[in-house]
Amino acid sequence: MSLRVEQDIFAVRQLGREVARAVGLESQDQTRVATALSEVCRVLLAVGADTDVTFRVESYGVPALQVTMAHSAAGGSSRLAEQLQLVGRLVDTMEVDDGGIGTTVRMARRLPSGAPVLTSTKMDEIRAALAQHVPGTPLDELAVQNQQLIAALDEVRAQRDDLARLNAELEETNRGVMALYHQLSDELEETNRGVVALYAELDEKSVQLRAASEAKSRFLANVSHELRAPVTAIIGLGRLMTDSSSDELTADQQRQVDLIRTSASDLLSLVNGLLDLAKAEAGRLEPTWSEVDLKAMFGQLRGTLRPLATRPEVEFVVDEPTVPTLRSDEVLLAQVLRNLLTNALKFTESGSVRLSVRPIGADVEFVVADTGTGIPSELHERIFEEFYQVPGSMSVSGRGTGLGLPYARRLAGILGGGLRVASTPGTGSTFTLQLPAADESATDKTSEPAS
Ligand code: ADP
Repeated sequence: MSLRVEQDIFAVRQLGREVARAVGLESQDQTRVATALSEVCRVLLAVGADTDVTFRVESYGVPALQVTMAHSAAGGSSRLAEQLQLVGRLVDTMEVDDGGIGTTVRMARRLPSGAPVLTSTKMDEIRAALAQHVPGTPLDELAVQNQQLIAALDEVRAQRDDLARLNAELEETNRGVMALYHQLSDELEETNRGVVALYAELDEKSVQLRAASEAKSRFLANVSHELRAPVTAIIGLGRLMTDSSSDELTADQQRQVDLIRTSASDLLSLVNGLLDLAKAEAGRLEPTWSEVDLKAMFGQLRGTLRPLATRPEVEFVVDEPTVPTLRSDEVLLAQVLRNLLTNALKFTESGSVRLSVRPIGADVEFVVADTGTGIPSELHERIFEEFYQVPGSMSVSGRGTGLGLPYARRLAGILGGGLRVASTPGTGSTFTLQLPAADESATDKTSEPAS
């Protein structure tokens, strides 16, 4: 199309809308393209030169309707671009180009994804239909524009109403959220107050517990200490009475004195156990760290415990240690192992009792495994409680005190490790003493090794 006189602006506008409709743009986009066109035409006509308007459909990539408006007057493109800035918002792209021989305004609007495919046949049809197009009068165009304006205003009003409704909903939701927030804050505050009170109570309880536990340890230590002297005296006197240098006793008297001596011995081991445990609990046992020769220690254990392994059905094995030395407290370590081995020998009627040692990562594990009565799994932790003995468990050599394992576990803790059990009734038990390969004083420079 050519743009020569003012009248042509209406014709371009009408044709632009027709083209936009024919290629598949939606009604609002048709109005946008038409309005943009008439604005550009108005501005170009004011510059004064003739303008050629060309409509094309770009089908590469995203299909778009492109309009090119070229006029012969060169220069002033930047001013033109400024004037057309608002118009540019009606289309997807708008460029003003000053190629030296004239000025070209190009604008494009993308076709919607649902638009019909523009084959060459379809394009021929569109061209033919447009050729038939008879331009209306400016009054007709004014009527169309007015209708479009009314529709646009209606839509704006509908959108404003929608916005107002949405705002009201949002406000309502906000009020709900705020109410919920306040409620939650109140509840949280309430809970916090409860938690703080609970903590205070817990603190108080733990202070009381600590005091009670200290009192218990002190009581045990004192009473045990006081008991030891008379019990030792009873044992000594009993020994004197059965001594060959003493007067001969009747068989009855001999039996009674023996009974007194064994009872006193049992009492002494209980008192000693209590004293050991009380000392360990009161934190009065300070390990003496040194390089422990495990080969020598295992040899000693083998020698001292062999007399307890009296049953021929039980094989007592102390393996050669695969770990030669270990930094630990020799006396405490030997005490734990002796304890575990004594138990194993006590509760094993046939099979074997075995002591071995193995390195596990940065730790060393001592394993005392037996094929004895075993311990039900629900009691695996209870046997480490003071005085607890598995109900009905019959040791091969009389009743013990129930203090050995709690003491052994205390000692394991003092040595920086732990003691655990794995056991199946009827199959046997495995007690594992896990100790760090390097003692704590090696990592903690503030406490020097006492050796
Ligand atoms: P004690 O041996 O003096 O009774 P302990 O504290 O050493 O006390 O052991 C507590 C209980 O754990 C024992 O009475 C026994 O019931 C059980 N127990 C310990 N070691 C073994 C074991 N090797 N096999 C089976 N039961 C065991």
